[in-house]
Amino acid sequence: MSVVERARRVLPGGNTRTTVFVPPHPPYAVHGEGAIVTDHTGHQVIDCNNNYTALIHGHAHPEILQAATEAARSGTAFGLPTTSEVALAEHLRDRTRIEQWRFCNSGTEAVLMLLRAARAYTGRDLIVRFEGSYHGTGDAVVSPDAPGVVPGSVLVLPQNDLDALTTAMRDHGRQIAAVLIDLMPNRAGLTPADPGYVTALQDLTRQYGALLAIDEVITFRLHEGGLHQEYGIKPDLVSMGKVIGGGFPVGAIGGSADVLSPFVPQAPGAVSWGGTFSANPVTMAAGLAALRLYGPLQITELNRRGDQLRSWLRDAGVEVHGSGSLLRLMTSDPTELWWNLYHRGVLCGTNGLLAMSTAMTSVHLEQVAEAVTAVAREAQSILS
Ligand code: PMP
Repeated sequence: MSVVERARRVLPGGNTRTTVFVPPHPPYAVHGEGAIVTDHTGHQVIDCNNNYTALIHGHAHPEILQAATEAARSGTAFGLPTTSEVALAEHLRDRTRIEQWRFCNSGTEAVLMLLRAARAYTGRDLIVRFEGSYHGTGDAVVSPDAPGVVPGSVLVLPQNDLDALTTAMRDHGRQIAAVLIDLMPNRAGLTPADPGYVTALQDLTRQYGALLAIDEVITFRLHEGGLHQEYGIKPDLVSMGKVIGGGFPVGAIGGSADVLSPFVPQAPGAVSWGGTFSANPVTMAAGLAALRLYGPLQITELNRRGDQLRSWLRDAGVEVHGSGSLLRLMTSDPTELWWNLYHRGVLCGTNGLLAMSTAMTSVHLEQVAEAVTAVAREAQSILS
């Protein structure tokens, strides 16, 4: 029996994550090393997906593996806090200047925790978010019409539309706990938010006493302290995930000691938040190792490579969005694009997302450019 047949018997549709499904069925990864992934048929691809942007250093980076292995040897999980969560929180504080942190196991969970924190701190219910942005799979951040979802107290606005925002704040400002924004939303086309709009958003949240919450789960990799620092704003809360776990399951929220005070267990009316594997010591150690290898020099270099690839592709007539090390190929047929690239040796996201890793050499970059250009020439769907 093939792996696909076996998989379909025990997993709905044959796998666990809708986000990695490509029809008729995706290949199964069996090995990753540096920038190369091998699937169950032996086919090898240059990894430009990098587990949806999380693997900033590609696969099996020796220093990250060493940090994770050493941590695992000392114990993979405890019913006590560990010093490793202190170390990662200090590192995040130093690079973001955001005072306090709490860890969890995914970006989805981070967003849930962020919304809980905002509601607990403000005593308000309403959350504002933006059309087309993805913030994981919690009820508050997916379509209220989707099957199985219980709609919450959420207002969805078009991003970059200042009139819509001003009206919503005027009408509901004093009921809004937080406005949640991704400054370069992948699903909505990976176009950076307009700086004037973001400044106005900060002013309006301050004016109405709502919290400004930035979802940095994808965008943190673009700047040492997260993309919001390029906008010169000061979020009240941030959610993070992906790169900060060094390839292991992770999520986090950051904020001032004041805003996160509802999580202090002795506080009156404290928010209780657990998680058997939250702040797992293996994740914390791997995350710290990965971030230490990703300072300003490496960030600038990786962003430069992304810019280089984007400019080659644009010169070849390909419509490509994004900024720095994150690119998005715009296509009317993402499945066709995905398979055509895969057969030519490039693994992208199922919506055409490409994320650079420090494991990619300039030869890989040229090979990716050649593959995308060839695919674009064949399938008119991604030519601008
Ligand atoms: N927020 C954003 C901006 C994301 O891109 C994602 C996942 N791609 C999430 C939250 C959810 O993260 P996770 O998949 O780790 O649950």
